[in-house]
Amino acid sequence: ALDVTDGRVTGLSGEVLADTTKPRGESTSREVTGDFSYAADSVILTTGGIGGNHDMVRRHWPTDRLGQPPKTMVAGVPDYVDGQMHEIARAAGADLINEDRMWHYCEGVQNWDPIWPNHGIRILPGPSSLWFDAKGDRMEAPCLPGFDTLSTLRRILSVGEHSWFILTQKIIEKEFALSGSEQNPDFTSGKWSEVLKTRLGKGATPAVEAFKQKGADFIVADDIDSLITRMNALTPDAPVDPAHIKAQIAARDGQLTNPFAKDAQITAIRGARAYRGDKLIRTAKPHAILDPANGPLIAVRLNILTRKSLGGLHTDIQGRVLTPDGAVFDGLYAAGEVCGFGGGGYHGYNALEGTFLGGCIFSGRIAGDNA
Ligand SMILES: Cc1cc2nc3c(=O)[nH]c(=O)nc-3n(C[C@H](O)[C@H](O)[C@H](O)COP(=O)(O)OP(=O)(O)OC[C@H]3O[C@@H](n4cnc5c(N)ncnc54)[C@H](O)[C@@H]3O)c2cc1C
Repeated sequence: ALDVTDGRVTGLSGEVLADTTKPRGESTSREVTGDFSYAADSVILTTGGIGGNHDMVRRHWPTDRLGQPPKTMVAGVPDYVDGQMHEIARAAGADLINEDRMWHYCEGVQNWDPIWPNHGIRILPGPSSLWFDAKGDRMEAPCLPGFDTLSTLRRILSVGEHSWFILTQKIIEKEFALSGSEQNPDFTSGKWSEVLKTRLGKGATPAVEAFKQKGADFIVADDIDSLITRMNALTPDAPVDPAHIKAQIAARDGQLTNPFAKDAQITAIRGARAYRGDKLIRTAKPHAILDPANGPLIAVRLNILTRKSLGGLHTDIQGRVLTPDGAVFDGLYAAGEVCGFGGGGYHGYNALEGTFLGGCIFSGRIAGDNA
């Protein structure tokens, strides 16, 4: 609770939970062992977003922009990212804005080794996987891997809740990366030698290979007919037509020999490979999906994965929380995702990868300075 005296936040109080030795991200006991209260001249809220609370995500879902919220989603954040403090601050008199602005991903897979409940991992895809909606229609530009998150989210939800990547062994080796520090031990080791060994070496990274072998959403098969049979076994309520899938892949493969390819995705792959960095570590050499020499074939069922809240507590440029009538709520500041990374939504409706931590640090510095 926020303690409010004569319209000013004068401190906070709450429950002390049982001690725990659980690793970061795991759910912990809610057993209450006592309570606490602190008086303070200034309180800065930095309690994060709402992505772990799917009921809250659905309640604020921007149906007008993205369509109906999915009934099933995977959680891209731990369950403590529950929006509890948003409601406590609102009840104390704070204003919240832009709560319908969210940044969720289309490429979520169930973690075979979960840390938190319903733990989903986002695939950061290179440009070559073929992307099909739940009905088996290949999605058109700009709904290509790694292109336009919110447009693709809307496109997927217009016909179903999940989508499919179909790719080859060559593509998974070069183009699949996974989001999350535990999925990237080479980067977190702080050693460039580790990064180069893992990313430029043969095969997929060990983390990607583990998902390929153990992930509930991954299917590996030597031929396209077996692949599609197993895809339909995984989603019996939304089967795809094998002939339709094969015809679309063959049409795409047929454009590879055309230097003026009419396939937007092939043009994009060639564009990506014109940049040395992408060519080296991110984009497979264009090849026929249906040629067994490039196999085995891989299908990945992709789920909507909740991640970032772009709205939240309304603050001014000093990080001070405002009340619904626009007045400063004395004594209360906010920073980070709880206030949409600053101000109650400084990104607008869209976001760029990597601008979140920057917004947390920047808004934290501002709120700290002014408090
Ligand atoms: C897998 C993953 C990958 C990401 N990748 C990127 C990236 O590449 N680039 C980027 O910019 N951003 C990325 N993000 C987003 C970024 O990490 C978050 O937006 C950022 O960490 C939010 O920071 P925060 O301090 O506002 O909130 P959090 O880090 O969520 O911290 C909030 C803290 O408040 C505590 N808390 C919450 N409620 C209460 C309560 N009622 N009482 C007491 N304590 C409470 C929580 O336990 C938590 O410790 C990623 C996020 C995830 C999950």
